[in-house]
Amino acid sequence: MKYQYPQLNAEMPDREDVLNLTPNPASKDLLQHLHQQGVETWLDRYEAQQPMCGFGLRGLCCRMCQWGPCRLSDKRPRGICGRDMSTVIMANLVRALVAGMAAHGRHAHEVILAVMAAAEGKAHLPLKGEERVWDLARRLGLQTQGRKPEEVAREVAQVLLDDLSRMTMGPLRTLEAYAPAERLETWRTLGVLPRSAAYEIMETLHMTTLGGTSDWMSLAEQELRSALAYCYSTLFGSSLATEMLFGIPRPKLATVNYGILREDHVNILVHGHSPVMVEKILEKIATPEIQSLAKSLGAKGIVIGGMCCTGDELLARYGIPTVTNIMGQELALGTGAVDAVVVDMQCVIPGMKIIADCFGTQVITTCNSNRIPGAVHIPFDAERPETLEEDALKVARLAVEAFARRDRSKIRIPRVTSRAMVGWSYEAIVDTFDGITGLLNLLREGKIKGIATVVGCNTPKVPYEYNHVTVVRRLIEADILVTTTGCCSHALLNAGLCDPEAADLAGAGLKEVCRTRSIPPVLAVGGCVDNTRTLRLFIDLAAAAGVAVKQMPFVFVGPEPGNEKTVGQGVTFLAHGVSNVIGFPGPIPVPQPRPKEGAAPDEYERGSNEVADFFAGDGLFAKVGARIYTEPYPKLAAQTIRLLIRRQRLGLGWR
Ligand code: SF4
Ligand code: SF4
Repeated sequence: MKYQYPQLNAEMPDREDVLNLTPNPASKDLLQHLHQQGVETWLDRYEAQQPMCGFGLRGLCCRMCQWGPCRLSDKRPRGICGRDMSTVIMANLVRALVAGMAAHGRHAHEVILAVMAAAEGKAHLPLKGEERVWDLARRLGLQTQGRKPEEVAREVAQVLLDDLSRMTMGPLRTLEAYAPAERLETWRTLGVLPRSAAYEIMETLHMTTLGGTSDWMSLAEQELRSALAYCYSTLFGSSLATEMLFGIPRPKLATVNYGILREDHVNILVHGHSPVMVEKILEKIATPEIQSLAKSLGAKGIVIGGMCCTGDELLARYGIPTVTNIMGQELALGTGAVDAVVVDMQCVIPGMKIIADCFGTQVITTCNSNRIPGAVHIPFDAERPETLEEDALKVARLAVEAFARRDRSKIRIPRVTSRAMVGWSYEAIVDTFDGITGLLNLLREGKIKGIATVVGCNTPKVPYEYNHVTVVRRLIEADILVTTTGCCSHALLNAGLCDPEAADLAGAGLKEVCRTRSIPPVLAVGGCVDNTRTLRLFIDLAAAAGVAVKQMPFVFVGPEPGNEKTVGQGVTFLAHGVSNVIGFPGPIPVPQPRPKEGAAPDEYERGSNEVADFFAGDGLFAKVGARIYTEPYPKLAAQTIRLLIRRQRLGLGWR
């Protein structure tokens, strides 16, 4: 690899490495094609940013007041205010976590308010997930007898909203409804039970501003507290509220990858995270009015393709094809075949609009939080949902009309598709294995050695999607069942690993399990907020086994961490006792390196620091029973995961 970072004990790829290693031939083709056409992508901008700042990479720069930025090192170990390295590192980490929580929180807020609007009859939105409404009401101890589903849904939504926004100490009710008793006791003893997402965001910013806490350990505790708020209000809130609105997904077959785009059709991509307005847009696109508009413009039909988590939601519920993830969004538009892209919130990179302008793609934004200069803005506001019908129709019309302006000379659609079985909600997984006990028995017998949830973003710091696909291939070979969400899931879907036929790539035990049930060895459980589905599975499997989650053969894996949202995902699982194996760049600080005495200047002692020791050593382990392993190289990461699972199995007396 071209870009060496000895101080990080890692390296970053250049263009050649990316083109050699990225597993999807369609991505490779489009990256090359756009480069030859002189169209700029993230790969050009990433190379222009080399070399990256070593202080920032190690979490050793502080910009939390206007006295700085302060860059800390052995020579100058304190910032101007006197803040030490551990406090700076920890403050950066916990701030990243709450920034991610704010994003998922905003998502949860929109969907919860949409449930309220639906329940009150203020918006033409369905409550298709009655099953989830009654289930949640029971778990939360609400009165159900003799009440209408709308009335109960309204009350459930109010509880979810309170969990998102409570400002006083009081039980986070979703946490009490789902968390295992053993964990509740652990968190109570550690003093890390949260109030709400909103409160912990405020408290974290308060603790880390100039003149705030100088005790890094109290920030580490705030990291755990915030992760619990993150998990049980923003993730659970979004995932459960979406299920109340649109139903619980069930398994189905779908086609994915760039090849789903059709030259003779209107191609519309939907992108972002919240599916509320998009569902309505889909409804409008299916109307005779919009279908005949497409025909009148010479199109043979309309193709909808999903990107990122909005794509995951539609894929899971309806089998609507997905194309790609955060780092593929520019490439998708670079096919020249996309007439319109409709974006809601998060992971919409500005580079996407630059390419949209090169190819004449109509960009439509639908969320006031995600504005793009030059895009048409038709917002959805869950507190003013009255215009949803007409706005969705406007979006559908605008998107289809863009077909007439398409420059056909620029089209290049890589003819690559993959098949996938999707829709793996918690209920779907449990039913497929004849209940939690059925899956537990397979784990006990060793046909399935363990479960790894492999999730997270992409990062240009590793060859695009290479780490995701390489780790997962090795895990299924070792009979480890994989669940996946988000950007990682798009890499695995496009690589064909979510196809039931991928059972042939699995070890003998997992292959038999998959073949008997006609399922894939990699289960795409939804968008990032649906990591709660895997978490619930872990909690219920441990309960069925009569042990704590921390004793089970489960691992959280983030091979290509990129977004601030990923930090909370990892710490959520850590707080439950599930160790993390994280790729490059890891979430914990790389120890400050020291040149080796008498050796060449680029040879370093790795050294250590107390924050890294806490997360990767015994400090955190003593509190929650899990630690973080950072491994930039995917083959070595897979080896680490296999060893971890083996050690957990030995602890349980399972072979
Ligand atoms: S602000 Fe931090 S990351 Fe950015 S250049 Fe300065 S020291 Fe480096
Ligand atoms: S808070 Fe302290 S360490 Fe951070 S930028 Fe300000 S002076 Fe520097």
